[in-house]
Amino acid sequence: MKPIALSLIVLTMASYTFAQNRFDLLLTGGHVIDAKNGISAIRDVGIKDGVIAAVAPRLDPATALKVVNVSGLYVTPGLVDIHVHVFAGTGERNSYAGDNSLYPDGYTFRVGVTTVADAGCAGWRNFEDFKDKIIDRSKTRVLAFLNIVGHGMRGGRFENDLKDMEAAPAAEMAKKYKGLIVGFKTAHYAGPEWTPVERAVEAGTLANIPVMVDFGNDHPERPIQDLLTKKLRPGDIYTHCYSGLRHELDDSGHVNPGMIEGRKRGVIFDVGHGGGSFAWRVAVPAMQQKFLPDSISTDLHIGSMNSGMKDMLNVMDKFLAMGMSLDDVIVRSTWNPAKEIHHEELGNLSVGSPADVTVLRVETGNFGFTDMYGARLSGKQRLACELTVHSGKVVYDLNGITRPEWTTLPKDYRQTGDAAWDAITPGRGGRRGPPAK
Ligand SMILES: [Zn+2]
Repeated sequence: MKPIALSLIVLTMASYTFAQNRFDLLLTGGHVIDAKNGISAIRDVGIKDGVIAAVAPRLDPATALKVVNVSGLYVTPGLVDIHVHVFAGTGERNSYAGDNSLYPDGYTFRVGVTTVADAGCAGWRNFEDFKDKIIDRSKTRVLAFLNIVGHGMRGGRFENDLKDMEAAPAAEMAKKYKGLIVGFKTAHYAGPEWTPVERAVEAGTLANIPVMVDFGNDHPERPIQDLLTKKLRPGDIYTHCYSGLRHELDDSGHVNPGMIEGRKRGVIFDVGHGGGSFAWRVAVPAMQQKFLPDSISTDLHIGSMNSGMKDMLNVMDKFLAMGMSLDDVIVRSTWNPAKEIHHEELGNLSVGSPADVTVLRVETGNFGFTDMYGARLSGKQRLACELTVHSGKVVYDLNGITRPEWTTLPKDYRQTGDAAWDAITPGRGGRRGPPAK
């Protein structure tokens, strides 16, 4: 063959390959909800090399290695749940740095969650153990609020020890793992002192990250108004905002003026549903008074996951049932929490952002949702997760919408995916074990 003809063939093949691979994965025809970019419309989403490559009314399917038709479904950024408890595996009983926690991967991708933030299971003394046991071994993106208690959330004996609440070593650990440690947590404190909040804020100021507060036992010496209007900084997060356990509603049934004043100052309000922190008799009046949460989160742990709280989608469903629009629910489960933890590369579908994408179905029917006291509220809509994509790869596919019918395959078929877009099937279609770092 003549050199010119050969190079022409090579050139043709190169452009052919390029055209074939503009996208590894292309989701077509879905209704995209991407608050950061102001999109709530039918769009195609193209993914290449683990990041969002294009979002447009139409992208050419011939330019994608894998095309998935998601028409009739909602396409959102991967859900970000900033209040979970996932320090499992230490073997410690009755401890959130142990048996009260759950391994994240079993509870995340199946409900569209791609990023979680552990809410204070570990303190500076045991964070590196948490990192080794959970963060480094999970497929879910796991971030952490570091407990201001050095020993973390290991029970009352530890969590009420004011001597173990030191800002300096906590801040040092946060600086060492900048980006992984996204804030400090103070929680479950039973005493009347302000010390836990003050130390957490001190650490937050040293490390320049927010504080998340579970305000513990209710004490007249430290009223919620003072917390929200004096003690916390703009950007700090008040979780369990509809628990009613600390006068979130005043005696007349109105949202505590301290909450409204705190919001004006820039304090963030997070749901943190949990096993004992969400009541209809608080949430419904608050919603009617237009006191909406900034972020929706689960407070996932062994005591909440089979109670009134089921999973992230269940908590989102509750806000749909209270009349919040789907767009408003999604922004509070994606872009808002991503901003709160200073991870603005997450929670959106901007070109170049990590391709964490969730495909949801809105089911209609007669559904019921229960609160911490077992009280029920009826609803007509429920979210179901059809597909979860994490860093550009399919990690969960409920109905096999990315998969070929088995009858169309060779008689001796094996893996059906391709490592470029598939992290489910072993071998060629994705490897088992921890992700490469
Ligand atoms: Zn919690």
